[in-house]
Amino acid sequence: MGKHAAELFDVVVIGAGVVGCAVARRFTLEGARVLLLEKGADILSGASKGNSAILHTGFDAPPGSLEVACMQAGYEEYMTIAPNMNLAILETGAVVAAWNDEEVAKLDGIEAQARQNGVSDVRRVTRGEILRREPHINPVVKAGLFVPREHVIDPWSAPLGYLTQAVQNGAEAVFGAEVTAAARIGNEWQIHTTKGEFHASFVINCAGLFGDEVERAFMGTASFQIRPRKGQFVVFDKPAASLIRTILLPVPTERTKGVVVVRTAFGNVLVGPTAEEQEDRVHAGVDEATLNGLVAKAAELVPGLANIPVNAIYAGLRPATEKKEYRVHMDGERGYIALGGIRSTGLTAALGLAQHAFRLFGSAGVRQRPPANPVWPQMPNLSEHRERDWERPGDNEIVCHCELVTRREIEAALEGSVPARDFGGLRRRTRACMGRCQGFYCSARVAEITAGRFENPLSVGVSHE
Ligand SMILES: Cc1cc2nc3c(=O)[nH]c(=O)nc-3n(C[C@H](O)[C@H](O)[C@H](O)COP(=O)(O)OP(=O)(O)OC[C@H]3O[C@@H](n4cnc5c(N)ncnc54)[C@H](O)[C@@H]3O)c2cc1C
Repeated sequence: MGKHAAELFDVVVIGAGVVGCAVARRFTLEGARVLLLEKGADILSGASKGNSAILHTGFDAPPGSLEVACMQAGYEEYMTIAPNMNLAILETGAVVAAWNDEEVAKLDGIEAQARQNGVSDVRRVTRGEILRREPHINPVVKAGLFVPREHVIDPWSAPLGYLTQAVQNGAEAVFGAEVTAAARIGNEWQIHTTKGEFHASFVINCAGLFGDEVERAFMGTASFQIRPRKGQFVVFDKPAASLIRTILLPVPTERTKGVVVVRTAFGNVLVGPTAEEQEDRVHAGVDEATLNGLVAKAAELVPGLANIPVNAIYAGLRPATEKKEYRVHMDGERGYIALGGIRSTGLTAALGLAQHAFRLFGSAGVRQRPPANPVWPQMPNLSEHRERDWERPGDNEIVCHCELVTRREIEAALEGSVPARDFGGLRRRTRACMGRCQGFYCSARVAEITAGRFENPLSVGVSHE
């Protein structure tokens, strides 16, 4: 019998994407006995491994929606806890840039919506102001709306920090545990997984791209249907970061926020994402024509990008559904909450969604005992605008020369409360093999250091994900 099989947990969280990690943290800090079950080898095995990393203010979210409420609560909580956990905030601001008269005409509506959403610090900017702030963007820009508090974060260290805090305060997490079936017996869920059976009073479905299937396993039917929506990106090499300070947002259409030019916390520039419907919930392929289109678009918006090499490409899948809104609901009687369809704003909204789920749960009348002095983990910093490990003293072999990743960082990522369990997880915890050479020079050394640590060992020369 597995370690946790006999225990009745207050809450089982299904899925270690950004939402599940935030929920595990919130419920643990409120005193619940939490178990997180994740089918992947590591956290961020689904939608949360590839996004644009923007911490949104919610200026353009649907007014009055749960989405905007969770985004804004999530934004506020992130800003409060980031310094306590050593999480990055790259304060960029954003400009919604209008490139023709039709787009200029839409700025009034976007500004009004921002004010309606309580984002009252937005302001209209002229072409001259934009060009003074961003001298490298295409001078044909006509006007814009400046959103000062749109920022960029490290999209991997944040959820890792949430789960690390949960675990350090008593939560349990089991990986490689795919939930396959469940039965409600009295006031308990009996949960069948590929790692054995677990028991809980309450279940919170944070299964992202598989949210509907997990709901079916628990409730017999699903109240929503996942329709994956792919977003492809190109990542420009680090010299690109000197060409743009502010997040460059397009005037959005009904279907998508459109292609964004954004600096990353790691010192690159990201251009994307696309919005492409697909059936496949797991594989997010890239195609040459689309990537070439993104490169051309990037060079149109910021002409200097034409001279900068692309050093990585990737795609992410949004857990979209047949409706635009989040698919959140509770069946208190049967001990079930779904945080489903967290489509394109979940990195921002995760902490807010976790607060919301706890409010729903609390109203179902379960007794809690919050820890008196919660532990605050200090997350390793991967962002370029703050001190990196290689700058600190000590015996410090540089393993990845492109991203300046030290052996000390790699070893630390293999230990600790939520260690890397596969190569993708190690990359996201350290940035090893994610630079210009994409592991060509350092993957042999990384394979040596990680020998015997992963179920699927890193074999040099094969694809990384
Ligand atoms: C292209 C793109 C750009 C984006 N840009 C931004 C942005 O700039 N800002 C922002 O705020 N948001 C952004 N997002 C949105 C954000 O990434 C998502 O909203 C978020 O990742 C959804 O997280 P999740 O935890 O709901 O789902 P997931 O990350 O998919 O997590 C679900 C987890 O459940 C696990 N799981 C599934 N089924 C089972 C099962 N049966 N048993 C056990 N475990 C299971 C999966 O393995 C997975 O790890 C973007 C998304 C994309 C794709």
